[in-house]
Amino acid sequence: MKIKDPITASERNYSIVKEKKVQVSQYYGEDIFSTKIMMERLPKDVFKRVTEIVNEGRKFDSDTANSVAHAIKEWAIEKGATHYCHWFQPMTGSTAEKHDSFIEFTDSGDVIERFTGKQLIQGEPDASSFPSGGLRSTFEARGYTAWDPTSPAFIIRNGLGTTLCIPTIFISYTGEALDKKTPLLRSISAINKSAINMLRLLGNRESNKVFATLGPEQEYFLIDQDYYYKRQDLVLSGRTILGAAPPKGQQLEDQYFGSIKERILSFMHDVEEDLYKLGIPAKTRHNEVAPSQFEIAPIFEEANLAADHNQLVMDTLKRVAATHRLRLLLHEKPFAGINGSGKHVNWSLADDLGNNLLNPGKTPHDNIQFLVFLMATIKAVNTHADILRASVASAGNDHRLGANEAPPAIISVFLGEQLTEILENIEKGKVTKANDNAIIDLGISKLPVLSKDSTDRNRTSPFAFTGNKFEFRAVGSSQSISFPATVLNTIVAESLDILADKIRAKGGNVSQAALDVIKEEIKANKAILYMGDNYVKEWEIEAERRGLPNKKTSCKALKDLKTDKALRLFDRYGVLTPEELKSRYHVRLEKLIKDIDIEAVTLSNMVQNQIIPAAVSYQKTVAQSIKAVIEVMGDAKELKPQKELLKTVVGLISDTQKLVGDLEAKLAKAKAIRDEEKKAEYFSVDIRKLMADIREKADTLEHYVDNECWPIPQYWEMLFIS
Ligand code: ADP
Ligand code: MG
Repeated sequence: MKIKDPITASERNYSIVKEKKVQVSQYYGEDIFSTKIMMERLPKDVFKRVTEIVNEGRKFDSDTANSVAHAIKEWAIEKGATHYCHWFQPMTGSTAEKHDSFIEFTDSGDVIERFTGKQLIQGEPDASSFPSGGLRSTFEARGYTAWDPTSPAFIIRNGLGTTLCIPTIFISYTGEALDKKTPLLRSISAINKSAINMLRLLGNRESNKVFATLGPEQEYFLIDQDYYYKRQDLVLSGRTILGAAPPKGQQLEDQYFGSIKERILSFMHDVEEDLYKLGIPAKTRHNEVAPSQFEIAPIFEEANLAADHNQLVMDTLKRVAATHRLRLLLHEKPFAGINGSGKHVNWSLADDLGNNLLNPGKTPHDNIQFLVFLMATIKAVNTHADILRASVASAGNDHRLGANEAPPAIISVFLGEQLTEILENIEKGKVTKANDNAIIDLGISKLPVLSKDSTDRNRTSPFAFTGNKFEFRAVGSSQSISFPATVLNTIVAESLDILADKIRAKGGNVSQAALDVIKEEIKANKAILYMGDNYVKEWEIEAERRGLPNKKTSCKALKDLKTDKALRLFDRYGVLTPEELKSRYHVRLEKLIKDIDIEAVTLSNMVQNQIIPAAVSYQKTVAQSIKAVIEVMGDAKELKPQKELLKTVVGLISDTQKLVGDLEAKLAKAKAIRDEEKKAEYFSVDIRKLMADIREKADTLEHYVDNECWPIPQYWEMLFIS
């Protein structure tokens, strides 16, 4: 049952020496139906038509769709695919696939492989098993998937199965978004429109398109699979809901950027090979702060692609880990007392000429443009800090946010010293004229020296400007980045429009008007700027004084998704209708309840069926031993510590049993609560508090009970044996 002995590499049945593929550049992207492949495989005129249709966002005619479908099918079959699937991102946050075989019977009864334009463009999975948050009545179970040609089709290999995956959106029969991709795509259009409008106002005639770019840094834990399967809590809830902290945690700080162990590196190598085949530009890999914690980060991409790719990265990490007899934990806080995992979502805006709009430029004019986009982002975060906070709310992230290792639940913006000084000078009126000299005097034209490596980088900030992008650090490690990105795109689109109106209203020289507006906006949005340590208690007090929201629990934070302010914003930008947004609120609230419920029931089971039996058996051993000693030696005074040990164990068992009884009672009571919000609150506060009390007792028992009969793998084993 137990695995106490470190297992040697050879027993782990994974291959360290694996034949390496050729140069990465030779196989990069070989498993995607890329533009290049499409160009090679489609007749010239069809390819031209496809490009036009995609660029203009038009509907595919059936001839073109059939040609593309045929080409994709031929390509996929050559790759070994037998099935195709519409790959989509339901509101659960993971991805969904329904596989269909290519086979069809001909009139003469032979089997052939066939894939039509209609099958490419639209699918009809049974939507009833996906959450809709009340959008779809149960009798209308139909949902549609529709091809998203802006993200390339790809091949997924899993064991013997090889499947062609078509990225799609997922909508209801009546056209409401049932997924995470649809609103993201709509927000991408919104930010494009608002940003182009702003660029034109500032005199830019060259850029024709603006898109959001995303670079998610993904953190995760890896433990040996044998340990994983011996822990009900890990299997069922993704985190350890019991377990005493090891004597060595991360206090030695010897893990971060340390050399990567052979087994882990082999795993990383395999992951990257798969990602490269899928055209996912995995760039950096390193150890993270906690033992057994790691990070993988890609080169940034256009938002829709980056969001799809992050889902694939998470899936690939999990799949490949299993082939190395490892288990990958994506939970935000798999181990109490040890750093949790997040996802730093780097966000910026780029135009079709390759310019990063959050990159300070070389000319004063460029820098006015930079300052306008910077200001718009600051204003957006200040106006909608509550929505941003809500976008990262989940049961898992509750354990992380505000836990002195992750950003706090208070959203603020960090700009770094140089930029703060420049904004202060503008605010104080040190620069009042937008002529070249004034701006040069300020050092604005030298803005490119704002390197991301400048010493004033603040690791504690939830939303930091890091040289040429913002880094949103509150996103949970297991979370889809689609919704946080959707929120960012939408709120910045709104701010850009507001700033554009103000600049226009001022009239006169546009650079001057922009500078004047920036000046006013710095004053108005100062509260959100914070340069200090986000972990200190004083910040919480200061933030409250500034009126910044501080919703510590997700059940409170989520409510900010259905305020009038939020409903109007998303509706106005065509990103989510009020019904669609409310449905997201319900889905997430329900998920929160379910997650905590599963954990609570698992805790109760583990304590009753594993912890208490082990403790009772240890109690018996101690009691029998004391009795035996007394028989031989009489009631010697040296037995006192042993009797005290016994008393402690008896006491702890009794306390634990009582608390578990309370938990059962509370869970029964929770079942009767009809109101979802009340239920979420009950689970988040009452049940969680009781779970923490039980854990404290159980973890204390772990401290006393014989290691040999402790029924589940302990922290030191899981975190340090690899
Ligand atoms: P770290 O924050 O760990 O020090 P970096 O600052 O190098 O690492 O950030 C790395 C991440 O930022 C990468 O995923 C990278 O792709 C992303 N990134 C860089 N530039 C941009 C950009 N313009 N837009 C979005 N993401 C970007
Ligand atoms: Mg980072």
